[in-house]
Amino acid sequence: MGQIATLDQNIINMIAAGEVIERPANVVKELMENSIDAGATKITVSIEDGGRKLISVADDGSGMEADDLEHAFDSHTTSKIKTSKDLRGISTLGFRGEALASIASVAQVKAVSRTKDSPGANCIEIDCGNKSSVSPCSTDYGTTVQVRDLFYKLPARRKFLKTANTEMGHITEHFTRVALANGNLDMTLIHNGKELYRLSGKQDIRQRIAELFSREISDNLIENESKERGLHIFALLGRPDISRTNNKFQYVFLNGRFIRDKFISHAIKEAYRGSLEPNRYPVIFLFIQMPYEDYDVNVHPTKIEVRFYNANLLHSQILGALREKLLGTNLETQAKFPAATDSARLNRGQKITDAMAEFFKKHKTIQSQQQLIPTPKKQFNVPHLGAEQITKTQTPPQSQKEFLQIQDSFIVAEADDGFVVIDQHALHERIIYEELSRRVRMGKLESQKLLIPESFELTDAVADALKANAKLFEKLGIELAPFGPKTMAVQAFPTLLAGPHFAISRKMETPNVAPLDFVRDLIDLIIDKGTNLDAERLLDEVLNMAACKAAIKAGQKLNDSEIEQLLADREKAEYASRCPHGRPTTIKFSTAELEKQFKRT
Ligand code: ADP
Ligand code: MG
Repeated sequence: MGQIATLDQNIINMIAAGEVIERPANVVKELMENSIDAGATKITVSIEDGGRKLISVADDGSGMEADDLEHAFDSHTTSKIKTSKDLRGISTLGFRGEALASIASVAQVKAVSRTKDSPGANCIEIDCGNKSSVSPCSTDYGTTVQVRDLFYKLPARRKFLKTANTEMGHITEHFTRVALANGNLDMTLIHNGKELYRLSGKQDIRQRIAELFSREISDNLIENESKERGLHIFALLGRPDISRTNNKFQYVFLNGRFIRDKFISHAIKEAYRGSLEPNRYPVIFLFIQMPYEDYDVNVHPTKIEVRFYNANLLHSQILGALREKLLGTNLETQAKFPAATDSARLNRGQKITDAMAEFFKKHKTIQSQQQLIPTPKKQFNVPHLGAEQITKTQTPPQSQKEFLQIQDSFIVAEADDGFVVIDQHALHERIIYEELSRRVRMGKLESQKLLIPESFELTDAVADALKANAKLFEKLGIELAPFGPKTMAVQAFPTLLAGPHFAISRKMETPNVAPLDFVRDLIDLIIDKGTNLDAERLLDEVLNMAACKAAIKAGQKLNDSEIEQLLADREKAEYASRCPHGRPTTIKFSTAELEKQFKRT
């Protein structure tokens, strides 16, 4: 007799359940999605014991007539598609017709449903695939599905369930995704009789984010909307200050469906390049709307992955929209003061306020001294006046801002509504980086011949790296030539880096970048990263490195005119708030916050 037999339908369902129903959270997700597809405006999710004991999802959607209710729990039954053509433009969250059958094959399920037009409700019970007949019962319109004792006949699966808190964490995550994607829905989440969330469909998305996450997150989002070529993007971009160590706070929704997509993640990462340190991930809520026909959701059983027909276009549109917004936004880091609630915090807050009071006292003294005796700095700032014209009664121009270098590393400067503390190295790095990028974009960097060529050893690896990156060296204006056996020499080097003064900060006596050291480090960088990066990214890394080497260092004393130059360059820089690696260059202390801390308000 043959060995192959057709599986019984219930086993088929249990196998299907294995794909989508791994834990209570998956049940919650499937049931909530059904409620949304049914046009619900209100969803209540009640959980007991992390979903092990009970998962109940109640909605006020379209409901089902008795015969539909009977069929809903059979496998491959759906009202959402009819023919294979419908697969090409799926507008509902579900379409596979498997969720209810799968869930009912591994738990005790009771469903009650009533349509708006029907005089009464109907109910059905299924115990691990054993279905009762539909019977009338009484309830309001909509549908409630209760799932008890998940996996109770599958001890091996049940054993893998984690603690109630862990399972509840997964449930909350799915609840959060649905709540973000459906801002107009009233949604409640209850665990063991305790209400965890009650969200109103009338609140705006930021308020919803504040309730689901925190005020800190919702207060630090930059909004951007763009519509182009059939693609509508609404983004809430987290400021770099609230970035994370992983990408868990990256919420991407495609036509109301939470998805994970490597093209989109890459576009987000690229958009934030330079605004974030490389190992940080942004908080972002990205809502994409595009024609249903432009992608396929029939790729993954849980539909968390989709396939875009034109992923490259999507990538470039998202990247373009987000990057433009980020570059056009002041991402200055705001000084964080502890919220003075408990006594420990109060102490720390007090220390900060004391330190600041001290600072202002000193600062005031410097300012008043300067007002009495004009310093050379003042003369520099009013070049149209001869030094002899500056009298003791001369008041500085209104725009004159005060500054101070502290620890030879930071510049404290007055700002319109408070003051800023600037990391001198980070800011200068950014300024140089922008200038280098600008010049490289226009062609190649201008270079100058070295009086004495500087030689270095040519190993095979170095030779390969040089050959593969000849264009890069040319762009940078670095000329290399053979100099004896197994030896190369640096013949010419970019003027910008070699010159005695860095050109855009003429008055600044920045140390030169030593050509040989630079070339050695450049080759190391190419060998290390060259194969993994495309030409543009590699060039960017190189310019980063050059900027870092050429920039003034922490611990370097600057004179007044150098500081003035730095502050003036800061005004001109396109993106002065972050260094090229994404670290902040500037921390802002606003007057409002100072007044609050000094208890003036
Ligand atoms: P799918 O969602 O893929 O169609 P399901 O097994 O999740 O498959 O549901 C089967 C069918 O049951 C749905 O197509 C829908 O017609 C009906 N249904 C399920 N849940 C609800 C609900 N909450 N309200 C109204 N109809 C529902
Ligand atoms: Mg479904």
